[in-house]
Amino acid sequence: MGLRTSPNIGTVRVELVRDEVNKGVVMSELPTIVVGAGLAGLSCARALLAAGREVILLEARDRVGGRVEGGHLSDGTPIELGGQWIGPGQTRMAQLVEELGLETFRTWNDAGSILIDLGGKQSRMKPVKGAVPRLNPFALADLGQGLARFTKAASKVDLERPWESPDAELLDGQTFETSIRRNLRTLLARAYCRVACEAVFSADAKDMSLLHALFYAHSGTDLETMLSTDAGAQQDRIVGGSVRIVEEVARELGDRVRLGSPVRRIEQSGSGVVLETLTGERLEGSHVVVTLPPTLAGRLDYDPPLPSWRDQLTQRLPAGSVIKVHASYPTPFWREAGLNGQAASDRGPVKVTFDNSPPDAGGGVAGSPGVLMGFLEGNDARVWARKPEGERRAAVLECFVRYFGAAAAEPIDYIERDWMAEPYSRGCYGAHFTPGVWTAYGPALRESIGRIHWAGTECSPIWNGYMEGAVRSGEATAAEILAAEVVSATR
Ligand code: FAD
Repeated sequence: MGLRTSPNIGTVRVELVRDEVNKGVVMSELPTIVVGAGLAGLSCARALLAAGREVILLEARDRVGGRVEGGHLSDGTPIELGGQWIGPGQTRMAQLVEELGLETFRTWNDAGSILIDLGGKQSRMKPVKGAVPRLNPFALADLGQGLARFTKAASKVDLERPWESPDAELLDGQTFETSIRRNLRTLLARAYCRVACEAVFSADAKDMSLLHALFYAHSGTDLETMLSTDAGAQQDRIVGGSVRIVEEVARELGDRVRLGSPVRRIEQSGSGVVLETLTGERLEGSHVVVTLPPTLAGRLDYDPPLPSWRDQLTQRLPAGSVIKVHASYPTPFWREAGLNGQAASDRGPVKVTFDNSPPDAGGGVAGSPGVLMGFLEGNDARVWARKPEGERRAAVLECFVRYFGAAAAEPIDYIERDWMAEPYSRGCYGAHFTPGVWTAYGPALRESIGRIHWAGTECSPIWNGYMEGAVRSGEATAAEILAAEVVSATR
């Protein structure tokens, strides 16, 4: 079996396996089968291939990328329907972008303020890391203290084993909403925290365990980093769109990626696995890596059935709820009013917006459209998904007008993507742990079951829920399989 250039992945373990291969240890002839060609599946397959293992990727959709998807405005400008930003601390994504010869550009953030719309009043906030909205002195002090307390508690969470963190049971026994009510006294500070929660998790504070909120914030450095554009998680975008990353990795993998192949059943024996697709195909492999979001992984048939603790875990990890909308205009007109296209509001349905214009729309260059992007998240997404499209569009544009003025009422293009309606995602950005789940089921998240291994952004201790987490998790699982093969081949 040929060895290919290592793309700098799980380097130590990959090198170890290569040595074993060179020493003549016979590795399995059967390929590893990866289920799902999102970033986790693609990264896992790429790492296995780099270590000289054969892989097959089975992808249900007729495209790669999963929660990363490209789209276009009517003039051909690329937009991102799913995951898009990368930022400092997301080192694997930065390396991958470089390895693939892609380029990034800064999210539009300068020379303008963020529009804050809280408690029925509008104000402006500087777009710098750590800035807080101009609230009355009581609310400001309340918010400052609450955020500091949250950040301190988050820093104590054990990222590898959140259930072993100090006070894990206590923290896991309450919702994030309970803690907001208990720790914040003013309505404005509470409102700000709820909007921040929806923006980060696409879920309401009442939906998730406090331990999970703390884990997640620590996993992405801290809440401030997650909420920031410059020096934060929204800092950079990929030229041509994030879809370029998955397209390039898929190109490397060639016909190992099989689109339109939804897996329905996984059988395993002592010597291998057999996967069956909805189209009736049966494929044999040495190991299988399931990279689906946890709820969807739980919907596959397994023979023998999975242990109860793993199945019960996947019954308890709901995906967030989000509809992502884009509206394009002849120019980014909001910049002339000193606004940077970012808004945060406690009135829905769109509570968070960004300037998603292409890089050459710097000063409103002729021919470059201005693009406003907004999210309907949590309960807003669930409520508005059920309304007629025209009504939803009117409500979204009403929000844009409220934030940026009358010119927002008449976009050239209006494009929305409801991620809850996607049969092979069923929600986004990632899954969240409901109360009691980390402490009762935590180890079942990543523990392999015989020849079945788990990957996906939800499995990552670092940047969980983000593209970075997906890549890290795919690579970590590849390293786990390579190590397992060495052990069994040398026995
Ligand atoms: P997925 O991408 O979900 O991959 C799973 C794959 O499995 C999919 O391709 C799916 O089609 C396939 N599949 C499902 N069922 C089957 C089956 N039965 N058989 C075979 N294949 C199957 N992250 C960031 O870092 N920055 C952002 O700015 C950001 N913004 C986001 C905005 C939105 C609207 C969304 C939706 C996500 C965003 N994210 C962002 C999150 C990020 O996109 C995800 O964390 C990441 O893409 C998840 O990758 P994954 O490989 O773990 O999962």
